[in-house]
Amino acid sequence: MASTPHYRPIDKSDEDLVAMLADPDVELVALLPAIAHALNDASFLPPHLVPDASNPLAEQGGWTAEQQDEVRALTAAGLARIRDEGAADSTAPGLSAASIDWITGGPRSGDYQTMLAEELAPDGSDPRAPGWHRDDFEATEDVSVVIVGAGMSGLLAAHRLQQSGVPVTILEKNTDLGGTWHENTYPGCRVDVANHTYSYSFQQKFDWPDYNSPRAVLHQYFSDCADDWNVRRLIDFETEVTAMTWSDATSSWTLEIATPDGESTIEANVVISAVGQLNRPILPAIEGRESYAGTWWHSARWPESTDLAGKRVAIIGTGSSASQFIPAVAEQADSLTVFQRTANWLIPRPRANQAVTDSMLWLFASLPHFGNWHRLGMFWRGHEGLRPAVVVDPDWNENLEESVSELNQQLRDMLMLYLEAEFADRPDLLDKVRPDHPVGAKRFVLDFGAYSMALKRATVSLETTAISRITPTGIVTDDGTAHEFDIIIYGTGFAASEFLMPMKITGRGGAELHAQWDGDARAYLGITAPNMPNLFMLYGPNTNIVINGSIIFFSECETHYVAQAVRELYERGGGSLAVKAAVHDAYNERLDAGNLEMAWGVSNVSSWYKNATGRSAQNWPFTMLEYWQQTRNVEADDYDWT
Ligand code: NAP
Repeated sequence: MASTPHYRPIDKSDEDLVAMLADPDVELVALLPAIAHALNDASFLPPHLVPDASNPLAEQGGWTAEQQDEVRALTAAGLARIRDEGAADSTAPGLSAASIDWITGGPRSGDYQTMLAEELAPDGSDPRAPGWHRDDFEATEDVSVVIVGAGMSGLLAAHRLQQSGVPVTILEKNTDLGGTWHENTYPGCRVDVANHTYSYSFQQKFDWPDYNSPRAVLHQYFSDCADDWNVRRLIDFETEVTAMTWSDATSSWTLEIATPDGESTIEANVVISAVGQLNRPILPAIEGRESYAGTWWHSARWPESTDLAGKRVAIIGTGSSASQFIPAVAEQADSLTVFQRTANWLIPRPRANQAVTDSMLWLFASLPHFGNWHRLGMFWRGHEGLRPAVVVDPDWNENLEESVSELNQQLRDMLMLYLEAEFADRPDLLDKVRPDHPVGAKRFVLDFGAYSMALKRATVSLETTAISRITPTGIVTDDGTAHEFDIIIYGTGFAASEFLMPMKITGRGGAELHAQWDGDARAYLGITAPNMPNLFMLYGPNTNIVINGSIIFFSECETHYVAQAVRELYERGGGSLAVKAAVHDAYNERLDAGNLEMAWGVSNVSSWYKNATGRSAQNWPFTMLEYWQQTRNVEADDYDWT
């Protein structure tokens, strides 16, 4: 774990540096900012080589072959200088800003500079660490905090509050930490976001073994973080919160908990829900499902041992999870039928299942801050960079179920070319996998070739006729065909709209959160809800990012905000804050309007991005910068305080 990186001396000759950089797997975009940073020399950022930061599909910065050679030559010269003269002791702030502008295709505003500098976090720094401690408020009693869930967000919240000296307990229903990386053990499970961005900004890691590492590696990362931060000791495992009730008299929540030893209660002034959006498996409401007499399971409850050899297997679903385990099942099963309801856009990432090459590992280990700049370049392209391509152009006169703007159409054309190439030898399959919704209306499915190869196997069939019912022996489709199976695997996703279920949460005046939501969860900044004093949500309503960036960024913004709120309680000597209904409602009105200007807002395609009312209760429609800005400070006027 590279929180305070130490770089190896550069041990290559000029010729070896040139040879190493000729490796086509060396990703070039971040090399020059890293060299400029290390040498404190802006001449390594030539304006004519500013990369195309807006197109995540552009390989190698969108540079021509000649430009790529120029980048390699400059890098080789820079590495030789670092080898011979050593790296500069410090980097001028102006140069860092210029490098941020360069790698993001800037110029970037002051707030963008601050936000991106936080993400860059060179030298293992932690600019988002809370700048306060409970001892700053010695006269006050402690504000006790319970965090529900020990996944990526819950661990982070515990760390931040512990840094401020706040007493914290984490209640975790599972036997281990890690949330989704603990629960999803299906074969082929790996992070579908580029791994070098999928880390905490202040706990970056540059020795990921793969470009998109398998789940066990991710689980280990979060485990290591918990140990580095010394928060594992705060976790009560196998402890499920079933209900919680607010008391104005004590300014505290009483949580009802279930453990293997029985039920009990625990009190806390503040509750932080970190239960995630994608952890309650959903089984489809298909007639006869319960009558099925064969073996079945959901992807998030994969059995410890499975024997698929000689078996006729059905998989229902072709989303991010199913597309990852379909290749493994196809390899083992006697026959596999994949039931696809909606075709997804595949986003090519050819290296996703590959080990990071030696050249890249050498660069991460030897070129100071290369990992930080590499991560920042990816962060930009994966977050803000692609956003304009999924914004609806109000003057776009084409069919909105095909594209929502010229940029969106261009992206569609690019992804269609990829599909056509992948299925060139199987026109029958191409017809089936061609999506009929605009790019960005639902989540992309990451592809490195294994999915299409699996679908093309002789033992695999892709069934697109709708499922009519499930029988004791298999699945009947709408055309009346009865398909017999030994095993049905449900890759049918999660009850993402049912935030904080199945906990019963009773707030001020007896208001019950789920009754208040009535199937349409909303929150202010995704974090607070009216009538729910001192209850904070992480990865709550409308905090999901669609463009496949790293959700860890959102968690860092949310935990910063929550820590600010807890600080405010210390300052005020305890009590509570509850968001004003008018503030909450105005915020949601603007948010809903924002979502209607995005591809997922206008398309009617089925996805977990929308709830039963048809509203997107999941997605954040604005820029990352805006979320960062809105979560900088807790505005006192937004809340009723007691
Ligand atoms: P999902 O995206 O919701 O996919 C569910 C699939 O089941 C879809 O193909 C859906 O079809 C199908 N389905 C649902 N009900 C059906 C029915 N009654 N009949 C036929 N098909 C039905 O769920 P997921 O794949 O588990 O992924 C959920 C999210 O988890 C992802 O979008 C992603 O954010 C996250 N995830 C991340 C990773 C990773 O990073 N490694 C991996 C997996 C998941 P429709 O498309 O027609 O609705």
